[in-house]
Amino acid sequence: MKSLLIRNIHTLVTMNAAGEEIRGAAMLVRGNRIEALGPTGSVPAGDADEVLDLKGRHIVLPGLVNTHHHFYQHLTRAVPAAQDRELFGWLKTLYPIWARMTPEGVRASAKLCAAELILSGCTTASDHLYLFPNGSRLDDEIEAVAATGLRFHASRGSMSVGESQGGLPPDSVVEPESQILKDSERVIAAFHDPEPLSMLRIALAPCSPFSVSQDLMRESAALARSHRGVRLHTHLAENQRDLDYSREHFGQTPVEFAEAVNWLGSDVWHAHCVWLEEPGIARFAETGTGVAHCPCSNMRLASGLAPVVQMRAAGVAVGLGADGAASNDASNLLHEARQAMFSARVRALDAAAMTAREALQLATLGGARVLGREDIGSLAPGMAADFIAVNIDTPQLAGALHDPVAGLVFCGEDRVDYSFINGRCVVKERRFLPFDLAPVTAEVNRLSHAMING
Ligand SMILES: [Zn+2]
Repeated sequence: MKSLLIRNIHTLVTMNAAGEEIRGAAMLVRGNRIEALGPTGSVPAGDADEVLDLKGRHIVLPGLVNTHHHFYQHLTRAVPAAQDRELFGWLKTLYPIWARMTPEGVRASAKLCAAELILSGCTTASDHLYLFPNGSRLDDEIEAVAATGLRFHASRGSMSVGESQGGLPPDSVVEPESQILKDSERVIAAFHDPEPLSMLRIALAPCSPFSVSQDLMRESAALARSHRGVRLHTHLAENQRDLDYSREHFGQTPVEFAEAVNWLGSDVWHAHCVWLEEPGIARFAETGTGVAHCPCSNMRLASGLAPVVQMRAAGVAVGLGADGAASNDASNLLHEARQAMFSARVRALDAAAMTAREALQLATLGGARVLGREDIGSLAPGMAADFIAVNIDTPQLAGALHDPVAGLVFCGEDRVDYSFINGRCVVKERRFLPFDLAPVTAEVNRLSHAMING
């Protein structure tokens, strides 16, 4: 296996249990794993096949982890009629447009969205695709993402309760439950890799309490639990109308609903949880249930500010999600970490409610825990070679070099200079290497225009 030495790192942010940051560091990678790291001089360097000399101008961090997204929505960003709507109005405006999506739309949007995430430091992402119109399949997304080099957790989403059955989506975008379960089995068999350093895992992800039946929630949970490492994901407690729906249809709070359909556990993570209250937070902590915190989307749709500080204090696993791509509408994880820090402060009216380093922790270790991964999220011997390097010699970070790690979050840097995923260089000097983004951008614009103009 080939080895790579990264030397003259200004600061190496390990995210290990001690929160160690090493000034003047080096790191040796062999194949797709980290072999050694430490102060320059302590790392054996003699036999490296390749050397990347960062000349003391970069911070190196573990690759960021995105725990919630909808890549297909890259086709419908900033749609005028949906710009100023809350969640339910936003969804009802966009469902008929999404019904026109094609397999080529799924592929082009996934390629571009994954590339945008990678350029902002993301090296592992989960995506939630829950509608499959016009012959689209999860396979289309998986193939597209593989071309970007991103480590991927593909969620086989679903909607089964349309308007005629009291659900929110139009009947045209829901699927029969038997078909959903059969296809879920198929994609697990075809794609799911539960082994360490896996580049592709499957999760089962009925979309939300207001678009599927309780039966489908229960059966999806049972199906996932019959396969090692297949996790469960959905949306929960996103806004007040979501809470109203739960009360009116089930007579339950969202956490009571989740518990009743077997959706609490260390193999489950829920997106948003803006309106999680006690004893719900305690139940999440006791059961090891995770949360994908999506601050930009929650502010964009005016859903509220999630009680992230309380969740973390209670021991709940919390990671970041860019969400969207049409409810953010950026797909930038460094932005998301910054907004997580700010929104926690505003919610608590306390400038010390979340530090920059805690925001980076959410974006790395937190996300790894939420996705059930012990091989990513920190830099140490044996861990996956997923890491990013941010140039500190830029206008964005000027004047913050006394603490460039905090500056990375405070000052709004939003691009990485280098990204390595599974030992492979995918961003070099801010350039995305796997393919040319210009034709994919043109394709997304062409397909977006066709969908929005019917
Ligand atoms: Zn979502």
